[in-house]
Amino acid sequence: MDTTQPTRRKIIHIDMDAFYASVEQRDNPLYRGKAIAVGGSPEGRGGVIATASYEARKFGVRSAMPSKRAQQLCPHLIFVRPRFDVYKEVSRKIREIFSRYTDLIEPLSLDEAYLDVTVDKLGIGSAIEIATQIKQAIKEELQLTASAGVSINKFVAKVASDLQKPDGLTFIGPSAIETFMEQLPVEKFHGVGKVTADKMKRMGLFTGADLKKLTEQQLLQHFGKVGAFYYRIVRGIDNREVQPHRETKSAGAEDTFPHDLTNVEDMHAELEKIAETVTKRLERHQLKGRTVTLKVKYNDFRQITRNQSFPYPINDYETILETAKQLLAGTLDQGQPIRLLGITLSNFGEVNQGTGKEGPSPQLSLFNFDEE
Ligand SMILES: [Mg+2]
Repeated sequence: MDTTQPTRRKIIHIDMDAFYASVEQRDNPLYRGKAIAVGGSPEGRGGVIATASYEARKFGVRSAMPSKRAQQLCPHLIFVRPRFDVYKEVSRKIREIFSRYTDLIEPLSLDEAYLDVTVDKLGIGSAIEIATQIKQAIKEELQLTASAGVSINKFVAKVASDLQKPDGLTFIGPSAIETFMEQLPVEKFHGVGKVTADKMKRMGLFTGADLKKLTEQQLLQHFGKVGAFYYRIVRGIDNREVQPHRETKSAGAEDTFPHDLTNVEDMHAELEKIAETVTKRLERHQLKGRTVTLKVKYNDFRQITRNQSFPYPINDYETILETAKQLLAGTLDQGQPIRLLGITLSNFGEVNQGTGKEGPSPQLSLFNFDEE
């Protein structure tokens, strides 16, 4: 360890490139070089794209887009049903690669993780070198590409990993952070949702530099408690630790229905009741969590969970409900009747960095799938 800077951390954010689509292209030669979309079929009701290949993205096909819309944009698009057991297995292998370098691994989803390599197991010392080796191992052993962001905190590492996709490696060093944050468009801020970004733009706030002109008090006034998070983040300050052991503690509620639900309005009505119960439980125990998990059991007893994490803890009814609704949209691919819905809030470990209201953020993947 560098003894002159004992407290400066070395953080890597690794994000697989078009993960589900890349796995499908790897495993099926017919999909290679083609526009493919993993997700719901355009025929079913409410089918949504989980991941599109880069070939499909050229046509404007995006994650969370209705499959019907994707087909309009790209008529020759090949729709592929997700194989979550395969993605989970690949994800396990990726984590095994990470663990050669550090045990401080915080998975955000099947295809994304933070690594703290301040002290690495092999004594390599350079986070850039470690990121390079990890990308290389993923390529050689799994025939897949990943993009890496390297910095001294989670926030900057995460934004950085997205800058040179696919197969990118972006290093934002301590001296570059301030400038980097100043030129960053507000919608690129991890944790700033579309609603907040629009509000910021109406206020004439387009970049980090604009946000920086506001005092903490002004940010608090306009954006609630999360303003404190923005105040620090725009100055490149993010002391959140990489958390290898997710808090197992959670608060949730679920309902099994006397009749299977087939239409979205009924499902939303049930989610409203469940979200209310969850919110009350959180209030009673004075808890806030960063991860909202939706559980869906179909009439054939197949059960899936979907989750979305926020960079700060939340506990308000609207955010929980809206997040659950968005997660639900990604599960209605086959129009299969639903017999149970549940919402859980977890990840209570990290209570810092401002706590406040913020709508569900499109920047945070809606498809942090955690399939059971
Ligand atoms: Mg990814």
